[in-house]
Amino acid sequence: MDYLREIEGKRAHDRCYNFHEKKIEKCVYVPGPVIVGGGPSGLAVAACLKSKGVPSVVLERSNCIASLWQLKTYDRLHLHLPKQFCELPLMSFPNDFPTYPTKQQFINYLENYAKTFDVNPVFNQTVVSAEYDRNLGFWRVKTAATEYVCRWLVAATGENAEAVVPGIEGMEEFSESIMHTCLYKSGEIFRGKKVLVVGCGNSGMEVCLDLCNHNATPSIVVRHAVHILPQEMLGKSTFGMSMWLLKWLPMRLVDGFLLMVSRLMLGDTSRLGLDRPQTGPLELKNLSGKTPVLDVGTLAKIKSGDIKVCPGIRRLKHHTVEFVNGKAEKFDAIILATGYKSNVPSWLKEREMFSEKDGLPKRPFPNGWKGESGLYAVGFTKRGLLGASMDAKRIADDIQSCWLSESKHVTAFARSLLSQS
Ligand SMILES: Cc1cc2nc3c(=O)[nH]c(=O)nc-3n(C[C@H](O)[C@H](O)[C@H](O)COP(=O)(O)OP(=O)(O)OC[C@H]3O[C@@H](n4cnc5c(N)ncnc54)[C@H](O)[C@@H]3O)c2cc1C
Repeated sequence: MDYLREIEGKRAHDRCYNFHEKKIEKCVYVPGPVIVGGGPSGLAVAACLKSKGVPSVVLERSNCIASLWQLKTYDRLHLHLPKQFCELPLMSFPNDFPTYPTKQQFINYLENYAKTFDVNPVFNQTVVSAEYDRNLGFWRVKTAATEYVCRWLVAATGENAEAVVPGIEGMEEFSESIMHTCLYKSGEIFRGKKVLVVGCGNSGMEVCLDLCNHNATPSIVVRHAVHILPQEMLGKSTFGMSMWLLKWLPMRLVDGFLLMVSRLMLGDTSRLGLDRPQTGPLELKNLSGKTPVLDVGTLAKIKSGDIKVCPGIRRLKHHTVEFVNGKAEKFDAIILATGYKSNVPSWLKEREMFSEKDGLPKRPFPNGWKGESGLYAVGFTKRGLLGASMDAKRIADDIQSCWLSESKHVTAFARSLLSQS
């Protein structure tokens, strides 16, 4: 059977050269799926496939697995959710890990995961295009020097593939440093400095806390209403509690409960300049994907005045930030906690499955994982690692069933060849 796959591969290989005017340095036939992205989602699919006897090739643009975690996150980061909601399929976190593992512990877990399932991504392979060749019946996945040809393609490049940098008037005029959180490691280099953090999601809030802890003076720009919830309530994680309550109660009631407990524990956040959206936290997450902030201590620093809340920015000048309320203030640095976006539309040439606008599957959760012609998406559910694990299992099951039925055809074909000879 492997021999026939090789022949099939060679045919695909030959055609690959024939169809191209521009010569590619190398063309590789992959018998199983090609998985684009070596983050937790890509690793999870490869591991699930491996456990079912289906080989795959993982292509990763950077030089390590989980590059988001290894290269683009700050030192003090811990998992925001308890570990039981963040483990990948088939392997639990070690028992001695804390409820909220540190970034390094999570990276160690992922390294160990890849080792356990013998997943070895091909590094420094940025996929620049992936197109389904209808004549050939294969996906043609291109990196700078190589073309991979395969039956199944799994997009695992993540919701956080590219940093979102907003265009702020006067940005080029501002003479102090402006950096995205993807480059922020610790508040150490900002000691004694006045820093403006733009964006009040989980990262923005945590970076402010980190700056405080390093004796910097942070202010945070809050343009929109935001739900801030305590990380734990009544001795349980807020996330775990919500999941549990949702089994018995409608979302609106659970939202009401979360808001009531948050008010008791955190007080009225709108008095601090942090208005709450009209829609409850879970309903909002469900409708728009907007994640509530789980407070890890930032709110106390806002209450004590160590972190100042500012309105939106109107424009930047030489050393000064002008706000929409007309006030202006000098800052030594700006940190953009303005999030990330998917890059799928930049490389995937198939236009049906993913939205051009946000690079996420058009079909809502839980139906966004499968497209046409052997195309799959993992980790685009706005449900973190839990959503990625669910996708990974479904994708591996689906590919395995195609793999087995196609293997039967190949075996039948082989038998017929043998009986003729
Ligand atoms: C600061 C932060 C904290 C978070 N904390 C949590 C948490 O506690 N719990 C939780 O469930 N979720 C959390 N998340 C959500 C996060 O998205 C997931 O944790 C996880 O990293 C998603 O995995 P992924 O593999 O889908 O995407 P990523 O981790 O982004 O991995 C995608 C990989 O694809 C590669 N890639 C991108 N484009 C290409 C290309 N064209 N060619 C080849 N490779 C490419 C990237 O280099 C990257 O390695 C957090 C996110 C951030 C930013």
